[in-house]
This record gives sequence, structure tokens and C-alpha cells, in this order.
Amino acid sequence: MHEFSYAQALVENALRIAESKGAKKVNKVVVEVGSLLLINPEQLRFCYEVVTKNTILEGSELEIENTEALLVCENCGKEYRELSSMCECGGFLKVERGDEFVLKRIVMEVEDAQN
Ligand SMILES: [Zn+2]
Repeated sequence: MHEFSYAQALVENALRIAESKGAKKVNKVVVEVGSLLLINPEQLRFCYEVVTKNTILEGSELEIENTEALLVCENCGKEYRELSSMCECGGFLKVERGDEFVLKRIVMEVEDAQN
């Protein structure tokens, strides 16, 4: 299940950032997911729940923002919205957008440094 490795990478990244900010709890994580990755959002959510168990991310909400794919022919510049390796002109398609998996935002509660 490839969603699991994405969830794992996401949680590791989020944990590192949250800990560096001194967070005691994370409420929400926002991730941008390109449609070319063919990630099933429900699977990703399920894996996220599993991976965040016993961490400060446990019980946090996972918000998934989808990015539509955009491929452009290197030869004629024609644009495609779905995955294909070649243009009808025979040119190769380059992925401009849609293969990203980016941690965009973390909503967390930070311990007051004074106390
Ligand atoms: Zn073309």
C-alpha cells in the first residue's frame, strides 16, 4: 500500500517541525497531493491515523488539498490534464504539476515558554 509510505514521510516531517517549534499537540495537518500520485484519500487518512498513534499528532485532522495534473508537450507545447507519456505529435510530455506531495501547514498548540 503506497499510501502508507506517504503517510509515514508526512508524519515524520510534521513531527520534526512541530517538535522544533515546541508544540505539545498538533490539531491539524494540511497536505497538498498531486493527482498523478494516485493516492486514495481514504487510505491516506487511515494510514495517517495509524502512523500518528502515540505521537503528538494523534487525533489530529488531516486536510488533503488536491492538485490537478498538468503535462506539457516538450515539442509543441500542447497541455494535457491526465497522465500520458507522449503527445499526439510524438513529443514527450513533461509534468508541470500534479506529482507533488507537500506538507503545507501545521496547526499546533505551543507550550508557553514562560511557564
Ligand atoms: Zn506535442
